[in-house]
Amino acid sequence: MAVDTPLRRLFDYLPPAMPEGAAEPKPGARVWVPFGRRRLVGMVMDVADRSDLPPERLKPILEVLDAAPALEASALELIRWAAEYYHHPVGQVLAAALPALLRRGAGVAATEERWALTGSGSDAAAAGEPRRAPRQRALLEFLLSRGGTAVAGDLAGHSPLWRDAARPLEQRGWLARAEVALVEAPEPAQVRAAGPTLLPEQRDAVERVAAASRAYAAFLLEGVTGSGKTEVYLRLTEEALARGRAVLVLVPEIGLTPQLVGRFRERFAAPLAVLHSALTDSERLAAWRAAWSGRARIVLGTRSAVFAPLQDLGLIVVDEEHDPSFKQHEGALRYSARDLAVVRARHASVPVLLGSATPSLETLHNVAASRYTRLRLLRRPGESRPPLLKLIDLRVSAIEAGISTPAVLAIERHLAAGAQVLIFLNRRGFAPTLLCTACGWIAPCRDCDARLTVHLAAARLRCHHCGADAPLPERCPQCGFAVKPVGQGTERIEAALGARFPGVSIVRLDRDVVRRRGDLDEVVRRMSSGEARILVGTQMVTKGHDFPNLTLVVVLNADQGLFSSDFRAPERLAQTIVQVAGRAGRGNKPGEVLIQTEFPQHPLLVSLLERGYDGFTDAALEERLQASWPPFSRLAALRASGKTREAALGFLTEARAAAGAPPRVLKLLGPVPAAMAKRAGRYHAQLLIESRERRVLHRFLDGWLPQVEALKSAQRARWALDVDPLELF
Ligand code: ADP
Ligand code: ZN
Ligand code: ZN
Repeated sequence: MAVDTPLRRLFDYLPPAMPEGAAEPKPGARVWVPFGRRRLVGMVMDVADRSDLPPERLKPILEVLDAAPALEASALELIRWAAEYYHHPVGQVLAAALPALLRRGAGVAATEERWALTGSGSDAAAAGEPRRAPRQRALLEFLLSRGGTAVAGDLAGHSPLWRDAARPLEQRGWLARAEVALVEAPEPAQVRAAGPTLLPEQRDAVERVAAASRAYAAFLLEGVTGSGKTEVYLRLTEEALARGRAVLVLVPEIGLTPQLVGRFRERFAAPLAVLHSALTDSERLAAWRAAWSGRARIVLGTRSAVFAPLQDLGLIVVDEEHDPSFKQHEGALRYSARDLAVVRARHASVPVLLGSATPSLETLHNVAASRYTRLRLLRRPGESRPPLLKLIDLRVSAIEAGISTPAVLAIERHLAAGAQVLIFLNRRGFAPTLLCTACGWIAPCRDCDARLTVHLAAARLRCHHCGADAPLPERCPQCGFAVKPVGQGTERIEAALGARFPGVSIVRLDRDVVRRRGDLDEVVRRMSSGEARILVGTQMVTKGHDFPNLTLVVVLNADQGLFSSDFRAPERLAQTIVQVAGRAGRGNKPGEVLIQTEFPQHPLLVSLLERGYDGFTDAALEERLQASWPPFSRLAALRASGKTREAALGFLTEARAAAGAPPRVLKLLGPVPAAMAKRAGRYHAQLLIESRERRVLHRFLDGWLPQVEALKSAQRARWALDVDPLELF
C-alpha cells in the first residue's frame, strides 16, 4: 500500500471485511486505511499472499474507494518508476500525481447516489409498512413504483424531505444506499476538418511514427517554428484515434499556447481534456475523470499531465521538449515530465514524439546514441530562406538607451518597408538597478542577494526573486540625493522607442503586461491587425503567435547567457536566440535578426552564426564531453536552505561526511552556497553528486539517502534531492 508519508516504503494491510464473493481491491485502487491515529487514502500497489509482519500486527483496510482501479497499469508503473528514479517516497509521488480531490477520497468516476429496496424492504412496502410513519411508507411505495430503485435526484423530486425518511429505513435494513458509477459512453472520435496536404517531409515523419505505432519508439521531430510540427501531431493523433487509441500531448505552458489547444479543438470533434496548473481542484478532477473514463480521447496538458489516466494510450507527444518548464524544480518531487513521458511510452509500448525547433542536448545525445530517431522538417510551408543572423559589436557601435545605432537604422528601414519589428530583452521592468550617484547606494532586496527592479509606471521597486514590493523613493534613503534608474528593462525600451519613433504604435509583452491586462489577447490583436508596428518583449514572445509581417528581430543583450556559473546557460541562450529569430520572416518576406553583444568573438555566438543551431550543439556537446557534464555524466543535487548560511551548509557538510568514501567513478562536489545564496530570507546551498554511470549514481543514492535522513541537522534544514537538476545555482 502506498500512503502519503515521507517514509520511503510501502505498508502492508489486510483485505477489508467484505461481503461473501466480493472481489479484493486491485492494484491502482484507492482505499481508506488506518494510519497511526489517522485515516488516510492509500493506493494498492500490490496484492500479496503474505507479509513480513505477523498477521496480528496488520490492520485491515477500512474501505475500498475504487471498484475499478483509479490508475491503470502503465500509470501505476510510471509512479513506481518515478519513486525509484527520483528517490522519493512512493506515497508522495502518488500525491504529486493525483488531483487533490482524489487524494481526499472523491470518486474517480463521476457517480450518482442510488437507493434501493432490500428484500425485506420490498415485503414491507407490499404490506403497507410502516403504518405509523406515513412519510417512510410513501418513500417505500415510491421506490416500489420505480421498480425498487431510484437515484437521489428522483427521490428529491418525490419529496424534499426524503432523506429524513430514508435514514430510519436504512437502519432497519429496508433500504440500501450505493454510489454507482455514471457510465460515460465514449463519444466517437471524429475529424472535424481535414488538414492541408502534407509536405513530403511531414508525410515521411507521420509514416515513420505511425509505422511504429504498436511498440515503443522515441522520435525527435525537429523543425523551426512554423515548419509544420503541429500538423504532424494532428495527423498522428488522427491516426491513433482511428485505431481507437487515446493520445497524450504535453506542452510547456498552456497559458502561452492557447492556439495549440485551439488547433486540436478545431480539428477534432472528439472531447478533449485539458490539464494545467491554473485549474481549480474541481476542474482538474473533472478533466481527470474525462480522461479516466475514456470519454476524452485526447489529453492535453502541462507537466503533471504526464500522470493522467488514459484508456488505451496510443501515442505521446511532447511539444517544445527542450523547455525547462517540463522540469519540476521545486517542491517535494522534482521530476522531468519529458523524461517521464518517454518512460511511460516504453511501459505502454507506444511511440513518443518529442518536438522542438531547438532540441535539448540530452535529446540530441540520445539521437547520436541511436536511442531516438531524428525526423527533420527543414522548410516552412511556402518559404525558402531562413532568417539572416548578424552580430552588432557593442564595443564599437554608438548606443543610446540600450539600442545601438545599427539597430535603430535597421528598425527604420523595416518600418519604412511597411513591416513589423520585434525587440527582445529578457528583463521586465524599467531598470534593473536604482542608484544614488552621490553616495553609490543601490536599492537592495532585504531578503535576497539581489537588487530591486525599478517599475516606473507603477512607481514601485520590486524584487523579481521573492516578490518584495516597495514604493519607489525619490531621494536616496542614505544621503538624500536624487536617485536614478540604471540599465534597461522592457518598460524603458518601450519608452525609448516611443521617443525615437513618434507616431509609431508600440506594444509590450512581458509578465507585467499579461498580469495587468489579464491576457495576451490585446497585444496579439494589435500586432495581428498591423495596428502595432513594434513589439517589445521578454521570453514570452518566443512562444506561439505568428505575425507574418514581422521581418526584423533585435536581440538587445545576448551576453547574460555567455558567462554563467550554470553549465546549461549557453544552451538556453542559443535556444532563446533561435526561437526569437524564428519570429522573423514568414511567407516570402525574408527575415533579419540582429544580436547586440560585447563579445562578438565568443565561440558560442560564432558557431551559432556560422553553422546555425546544429553548429552550436556540436560545439556545446563537445564542451560538455570535455568537462564531463550531462549528458556525458549523471548528476544529482542535494539542495538545502536554512535560516542561516551555516544551517544550510552545515547540513550538507554532514551529509557529505555521511557518504564516507564514495565509489571510484562517483564524485561529490561541494557543498557550496548558491550563486544567489540568500533568497526570500533563506540561505541556499547545494552538494552535487556526479557519476559517469547512472547505475553507480543510483546505487549510491539508495545507500546514502537513509543516512542523510537520519542526520539531526536534516530535521532543521529544508532539503530536497534533485535528480537530473536542470538549473544549477
Ligand atoms: P510548427 O508547429 O512547427 O510551428 P505548424 O504545424 O503550426 O508548425 O505549421 C505552421 C503553419 O503552416 C500553420 O499555419 C499550418 O496550418 C501551416 N501548415 C502546416 N503544414 C502545412 C502544409 N503541409 N501545407 C500548408 N500549410 C501547412
Ligand atoms: Zn545616496
Ligand atoms: Zn527578494
